[in-house]
Amino acid sequence: MTLTWDMQDAKSTDDRDVVLEVKDLRVHYATPLGDVIACNGISFKVYEGETVGLVGESGCGKTTTAMGVLRLVQPPGRIVEGEVLLDGVDVLSLNEEELRRVRWNQISLIPQGAMNSLNPVMRVKDQIGDAIQTHESRAREAVKERILELLNLVGLPARVYNMYPHELSGGMKQRVCIAMAIALNPSLVIADEFTSALDVIVQRVVAQTMLDVKDRLGMSMILIGHDMGLQAQLVDRIAVMYAGNIVEIAPVEDIFEESLHPYTQLLIESIPSIKERKPLKVTEGLTHDLRNPPPGCIFQFRCPYVMEHCREVEPPLRELKPLHEVACHLFEEQDGKIVDISDESVV
Ligand code: SF4
Repeated sequence: MTLTWDMQDAKSTDDRDVVLEVKDLRVHYATPLGDVIACNGISFKVYEGETVGLVGESGCGKTTTAMGVLRLVQPPGRIVEGEVLLDGVDVLSLNEEELRRVRWNQISLIPQGAMNSLNPVMRVKDQIGDAIQTHESRAREAVKERILELLNLVGLPARVYNMYPHELSGGMKQRVCIAMAIALNPSLVIADEFTSALDVIVQRVVAQTMLDVKDRLGMSMILIGHDMGLQAQLVDRIAVMYAGNIVEIAPVEDIFEESLHPYTQLLIESIPSIKERKPLKVTEGLTHDLRNPPPGCIFQFRCPYVMEHCREVEPPLRELKPLHEVACHLFEEQDGKIVDISDESVV
């Protein structure tokens, strides 16, 4: 099969406001044997009111990207270069005081395992209250009112206000973390594996809460995870990461109906189905040594369609259809059309 798209339609016509633009973000971790390249020039945008999913296998750089965006990379990690434009201001150029004002007010994080980071000896009201008071000075009554409003927003009863974390279920604790993250009405929330450690039923309920809150407040979100099925139900666009690179980014329907990058296709094929009885597809091979990426395409050692050209030239991330970018040599421009050349050129 040869797929073609008209190049005239290939450029994005999205005119929504851009909340976040990450440009060529590079994050390295120093080791005695050389730098591990965790983010190798990540670029993407998040539009107003949009939810972008960051997916990929463990160690592909999803969390490091989030830490880079928030400027929370800890030694031995360091941001080597890049720009993180939040409402047009480069987060990487702010001083500590400016950065403190941006965090929570404009951008906040629900970290991995957030519910386990709640202080077991502090009541919920004090933990959320601390987050508010650290960034805004409000009268005690106003803080109480805001906390009760937040609890209501995330579907928790008012009695949770006076409770300790050990009195709450996992789903309730996670909702408290969501309430903390949105306490100051940020324009962007990054949620890192925010439903992991919850059973599937509670996962859905908490995920739905998150989406309801996002819609009511009109904020944008980045959802980090490796569960493609869950992402399919929650996000507007998906960015697929492999070995510190975004290899494909596209609207969620496009990713599931017409994914282009071989790695994305393998990820989707690996989703187990309870309806269709089919053998679980495993992506053969291992990721290369992240200290020494090969010349050419970073997926070449595991790609079923690898060509000679792939071993020499790195494929750039190109927008082939509106909002659909892919980094793969399988697609070429021929006479104003983008052509999938896999039939002719697979070796
Ligand atoms: Fe596979 Fe080549 Fe595409 Fe890389 S550029 S994903 S090796 S076909």
